[in-house]
Amino acid sequence: MTVTLADRIAHTIRNDVQSMHAYAVQPSAGLIKLDAMENPFELPPELQRELGARLARVPINRYPGARIDELRGALAVFAELPAGCSLMLGNGSDELIDLLSVACTKPQATILAPLPGFVLYELSARLRGLRFVGVPLRADFELDEAAMLAAIERERPALTYLAYPNNPTANLWDDAVIARIVDAVGRQQGLVVIDEAYQPFSSRTWMQRMAAHEHVLVMRTLSKFGLAGVRLGYLCGREALVQEIDKVRPPYNVSSLNAEAALFALEHAYEFGRQAALLRDERARLQSAFAAMPGVTTFPSEANMILVRVPDAQRAFDGLKARGVLVKHIAPLHPLLAGCLRITVGTPQENDTLLDALRASL
Ligand SMILES: *Cc1c(COP(=O)(O)O)cnc(C)c1O
Repeated sequence: MTVTLADRIAHTIRNDVQSMHAYAVQPSAGLIKLDAMENPFELPPELQRELGARLARVPINRYPGARIDELRGALAVFAELPAGCSLMLGNGSDELIDLLSVACTKPQATILAPLPGFVLYELSARLRGLRFVGVPLRADFELDEAAMLAAIERERPALTYLAYPNNPTANLWDDAVIARIVDAVGRQQGLVVIDEAYQPFSSRTWMQRMAAHEHVLVMRTLSKFGLAGVRLGYLCGREALVQEIDKVRPPYNVSSLNAEAALFALEHAYEFGRQAALLRDERARLQSAFAAMPGVTTFPSEANMILVRVPDAQRAFDGLKARGVLVKHIAPLHPLLAGCLRITVGTPQENDTLLDALRASL
C-alpha cells in the first residue's frame, strides 16, 4: 500500500491551512512598482558604500547580541518613547502582530479590528486559533462608532487593532471616536494596538498619548520609512506589558545584519526624513491631479498611498499595467472598496508616468 505525498499532506496539514491561499505577492518585473507602499528611493551611492563596509564587519558567526539592545535604544530615542515605556523588536510588524496573537491566545479570546483593514490581523488571529471579529467602517471610511462600541461590549476583545492611518483607506480616523473606543476597551480589560506603520507620512501620532493609557500599545515599522527589505518592526507600551509579550518572541528574531542596517539608517534619519517630505509633497500633487480626472474620486491620505475610486477598477488596473505601472486592485478585498485602486506614491518621474497612464486607462 503506497502512501502518496497528497495523502501525507491531507493527513498532517491543518484542514483550514489546506483550504487557504498563500499570501500573493504580485509579480512586478519590469513594472513601475506602486503597489506595496515601498519607499521608491534607493540609498545615495556614498551611503550604499558606507553601509556595505559596516555590514562587512558584522560578526555573522555569532548570534545577534548587544547591537540589538543598542538598536532598541536608538529606536527609543528616534521614536521619543515616553518614560515608563519600553519597546520590543519584531522581524517586521508582521511578526509583532503574530507574537501578539500568541501572547493573547486564551480560550475564546477575540481580536477585533475595523474592516477593510490590514489583512494580517485577521490572518494571524485565525492561524493562532483566536476568534476574529471585523467591524465595517462607514462608507466614508470613518470608524462606525456605535458599531465599534457595541462590538467591544459584546465581544470583550483581548486585542483591538486601530491602524493610524488605516491601510488600505489611508485616512486617520476621528480622534474623539478613537478616544472613546480606547476607553471602552479599557473598561473591558482589553488592549488596544495603534498600528502606526505610516508614521513618517502622518500628521499625528499616539506615541505620547499612549503614556496616559496603560492598555494602549503603539506599533511601528521601518518598512514604509524606507527599509521594507530590512524587516524591522517595534512595539511600544508600558514596560510591564511589553515584557510579557516579549516572552513569546524567539530569542534571535532580528538578524544582526538587519539590526546593523537599521542602526545605520537611524544615523542617517535626516536623509529618510527628506525622502518622506518629498513623498508627502508628491502625495498632494497626485491628489489634486486625481481630483481633476473626470469620474475619479480620491480619498484623504495621511500615508504614502492614495485610495481612488474609478468608474471601472479592473479596466483601470489592466490599462495601467499594460502601460507599465503596477498598482493594487483593492476592490475584491471588501464591498466598501468597490471600484477602488490603492496607489503608492512614487518618485516624481514615476508619478508623472502614472498620471498619464491613468488618464489613458479610465
Ligand atoms: C505594511 C504594514 C504593516 C507591516 O509592516 P512590516 O513591518 O513590513 O511587516 C503593518 N501594519 C500596516 C497597517 C501596514 O500597512
